[in-house]
Amino acid sequence: MRVSVPDTSHHDEKGKGYPMKVELEADKCVASGQCVVAAMEVFDQDDDGIAILLTEEVGDDRLGDVEEAVAVCPAAAIRLVRP
Ligand code: SF4
Repeated sequence: MRVSVPDTSHHDEKGKGYPMKVELEADKCVASGQCVVAAMEVFDQDDDGIAILLTEEVGDDRLGDVEEAVAVCPAAAIRLVRP
């Protein structure tokens, strides 16, 4: 008997399969640079060290990096949201 396993890859809580939106509250940023270390393709810093977004949408390939940035940001200035 064939057992079908539901494909949940597009329905899990992290939005796997869909791009997620990255939000940065620059006024909270304390210029630690942790987000750039975690996800250098998504974050950069301006001349004052304040984080800037290089892209607002991340797919599965960068999601882990941005989750890491959210976790390590000492100012809680980064959020991942569903667009
Ligand atoms: S990790 Fe947070 S506080 Fe540090 S530069 Fe990035 S956004 Fe700013």
